Amino acid sequence: MNNILFNKTKVIATVGPACNSKKKLKELILAGVDVFRLNFSHGTHEDHAKVIKFIRELNTELSTQISILQDLQGPKIRLRDVEDGCVVNSGDKLIITTKDVLGNAKIAGTVYENLAKDVSEGELILIDDGKIELKVESVKGEDVHTIVVHGGELKSKKGINLPNSNVSAPSLTPKDIEDLAFGIENDVDWIALSFVRDPLDIVDLKMKIEAANKDIRVIAKIEKPEAVKKIDSIIDATDAIMVARGDLGVEMDMEDVPMIQKQIIQKCNAAAKPVIVATQMLESMIENARPTRAEANDVANSVIDGADTVMLSAETAAGKFPLLAVQSMNKIIRSVETNYENIYYKYNTPNPESPDFYPTSVVQSSVRLSADTNAHVIAGMTWSGFTAWKLSAHRPKANIFIFTGNKKLLTMINLIWGVRGYYFDSNDTTDEAIAKVETILKQEGHLKTGDAYIAMASMPIKKKYRTNMLKINVAE
Ligand code: PEP
Repeated sequence: MNNILFNKTKVIATVGPACNSKKKLKELILAGVDVFRLNFSHGTHEDHAKVIKFIRELNTELSTQISILQDLQGPKIRLRDVEDGCVVNSGDKLIITTKDVLGNAKIAGTVYENLAKDVSEGELILIDDGKIELKVESVKGEDVHTIVVHGGELKSKKGINLPNSNVSAPSLTPKDIEDLAFGIENDVDWIALSFVRDPLDIVDLKMKIEAANKDIRVIAKIEKPEAVKKIDSIIDATDAIMVARGDLGVEMDMEDVPMIQKQIIQKCNAAAKPVIVATQMLESMIENARPTRAEANDVANSVIDGADTVMLSAETAAGKFPLLAVQSMNKIIRSVETNYENIYYKYNTPNPESPDFYPTSVVQSSVRLSADTNAHVIAGMTWSGFTAWKLSAHRPKANIFIFTGNKKLLTMINLIWGVRGYYFDSNDTTDEAIAKVETILKQEGHLKTGDAYIAMASMPIKKKYRTNMLKINVAE
């Protein structure tokens, strides 16, 4: 058995210059990272290809199933370059133009060509995570004339948010289309789409992945008010959700973000869709070796809310203490998981009208049985991953192990709460397959003689039906 930490809530670490060597990635895996996020707002394809190669080599060397998440930039609006030390103050006039200019305190350029078409008088333009706030006074051709409400230093390439405007940019920009082709070619496990505004953005991305004949799952990043309004249909359309609090907290009133986070998590839990809480979780660890107490509370509360996965961004990508950040996050998760019983056993009553009513009921019964019998392990055999998704959603205290001959599934499911995958290609009968699963779990140290465990499979095993059988065993 490898000695890797065994928390149920998963950890995503964003890769960047602070951790992109094979040695550092290995340290982070050993500290309990489950998913590496490649942020396509930064870095070249060459850089990302190198990291993908390292992760796959490490998965082989360490017998891990670390998942790879490609995060597409989406229609992110940015400033062009500005002169150094350029400060604007409240009451100043500033023009934001779509012309290609080097910015100064009077005029700054943006790469977003539709800016002048999308904004109107009285609307706000926020720069650099809302640190600088501008109000539109008028639009003249390619120039948007604004008055500075809150000033600050203008910095090159900083993000721009338009909280009151309807952004007309397509959901996949030309850069995203190129990056997507790279992600598909490299067979990443998950693709996250930024600034989702409508479920059709997800449908469109899924169709592109399907057209390439790949099984890559999609994450909708919720960071626009439009997405919050359409959250139910977006959850329906997507495979997973990310509460992207960085941009969400700029696009909407920041005081509303905590309740939005809780509501989205509840809806995702009920729909058995994995949900990630992201951004500024241990922000102070970019500079410091210890998180603040408030940050520790934020991670703990996200676990208590029901997040499948919590994410580190600049803390691991560009911070001074990437390893300590992962270790701290895992310690906080572990403390909640061992001391707070209320995070377990969230039963969702299966819907008799659903075509999945019977397999869903079998999965729920296995979780109830594990609670009643104190079983240590629930082992599911699956091809599609259905059992993994559904088991996780009921949040059993027993460890979930998924045995599959579907290699693609193994790394993909590593993002889901509580789930660990093992490769298993069996032509045996169900009884023989369960015996082999027991042997593997004992060899790996997850079961010992006398431990009760629950095995789930579909019978006959070769037909690859959805789960229709559960059995309680005692390890020999
Ligand atoms: C966010 O805005 O919270 C987020 C995760 O997106 P990104 O880091 O891509 O800006």
